[in-house]
Amino acid sequence: METPDVSSPTRSSNRPVRGQGQWALGYREPLNPNERMKKDSDGLEVRQRIIDIYSKAGFDSIDPGDLRGRMRWFGLYTQRAQGIPGGKTAVLEPEELEDRYFMLRARIDGGQLSSDQLRVLASISTDFGRDVADVTDRQNIQYHWIRIEDVPEIWDRLESVGLSTMEACGDTPRTMLNCPLAGVLADEVIDATGVIAETVEQYVGSPEFSNLPRKFKTSMSGCVDHCTGHEINDLSFVGVVNADGEAGYDVWVGGGLSTNPKLAVRLGVFVRPDQVSDVWAGVCSVFRDYGYRRSRTQARLKFLLADWGPEKFRQVLQDEYLHEPLPDGPAPAPAAHDQRDHVGVSKQRDGRNVLGFALRTGRVSGTLLTQVAELADRYAQGRIRTTAQQKLAILDVADDQVEPLIAELDALDLQVRPSAFRRGTMACTGLEFCKLAIVETKAHAQELFTELEARLPDFDEPIAINVNGCPNACARFQTADIGFKGMIVTNAAGESVEGFQVHLGGHLGIEATFGRKLRAHKITKDETADYCERVLRGFTERRTEGERFAA
Ligand code: SF4
Repeated sequence: METPDVSSPTRSSNRPVRGQGQWALGYREPLNPNERMKKDSDGLEVRQRIIDIYSKAGFDSIDPGDLRGRMRWFGLYTQRAQGIPGGKTAVLEPEELEDRYFMLRARIDGGQLSSDQLRVLASISTDFGRDVADVTDRQNIQYHWIRIEDVPEIWDRLESVGLSTMEACGDTPRTMLNCPLAGVLADEVIDATGVIAETVEQYVGSPEFSNLPRKFKTSMSGCVDHCTGHEINDLSFVGVVNADGEAGYDVWVGGGLSTNPKLAVRLGVFVRPDQVSDVWAGVCSVFRDYGYRRSRTQARLKFLLADWGPEKFRQVLQDEYLHEPLPDGPAPAPAAHDQRDHVGVSKQRDGRNVLGFALRTGRVSGTLLTQVAELADRYAQGRIRTTAQQKLAILDVADDQVEPLIAELDALDLQVRPSAFRRGTMACTGLEFCKLAIVETKAHAQELFTELEARLPDFDEPIAINVNGCPNACARFQTADIGFKGMIVTNAAGESVEGFQVHLGGHLGIEATFGRKLRAHKITKDETADYCERVLRGFTERRTEGERFAA
């Protein structure tokens, strides 16, 4: 196969490919401060400085390049100073905007936890994080209020149970998603647990991939409900069965949301399980070497894909990195169910049950997580999962323990049979802790679903309401039925207040599409419940038999 001309723009874009800081084209000199920061010292090197210097000498001893850059390679971000209103990000100096505390993200690849691991995760919240934690929509646990002095002890605790914060943030291979029910459901196409473990073991923390142009999000899953959202990851391995009856993976690349959302595209190849880690490394290498490093806003893999198209991407991957062609393969079957979150009771292939339950938009406490670990031991085998929808699940529950466990969880306000609104509402970190936020989200989203439960008690359609504090879309407003993007709006009295731009009708799956932004639909925070009620009542009155909500 001929080596492709990687310098020429493709049919999909007129944007020139040269001069975007691609290492493969010889741009090794840093073209912006972020690239300079990474070249000056690899992000992985910050760990030793945290242990040897910063945790001993305190916050003021931290080098600014580490504080606002390399700390992320170990899951640490400074958190927003309390009391700073939204919309101030651009006008304040970084030191005015940030607190002397950190957010800390622990990576949980595939969302797989034992009760012992969950107890340790919980203890970090109670002992070091003011008993606050979030289950994120990438299966992680995120803490707040962390002091730099406590970080080595936190790492020791995590490492004692095989967990870490390495490359949980930064321009790195972030936590790899898997179906939380991998390995237990009878109808899964393939169990990706082994290929994730192998890839993480081989490449996370490797200097080979510790300086990527931007973050790199991976999903590997054989879930028939496509619960990890392969359409919006940088790289996804999606379970399929080929014409010979062999189970393997279809490869999708270039998905991502943020301010310039793109759906991933298929490369059209079939990858056997034993090839996954090599293909993962090949795609990640293409991104590392050809990804755009001039501008941070153009640096995700999706921009390279938009310029190259999937055919050229596949060709470069095969010719330059794998050194062999991959066979063509089939597309995955459509999702088996409307909802991808695994909330409720699901039958395992061994006859036992999984109980998936809704939290309050992912917000938990260490105390609560400890209680979940205890229930998982008492009623099952201590296997717990985090989901990509800010939910939790307990595996291996015997039939006669299902209702007693549901009652125990319910007493903790953890609902196996939640309302459509609690089940379908997600929220990002927002103004409470995030320096980029414009709007508070977590508390507001909880008030919103509680209000909708009271106003529309009989509404039982699957509905996704995603509340985001700014355009960065960490809670995926573009893929929700009703997506809220935080912004400052003008209220009826002419005052600037917290509010949202509404995006309507987003969804993944067959005919996946991003929600439409309706210019007139900018609302204040106080109007969100009225707005949702209006939209949902309109749907309920007009819907035809069997129609699901699609705004
Ligand atoms: Fe922060 Fe914006 Fe992401 Fe919310 S969407 S967590 S406000 S960056």
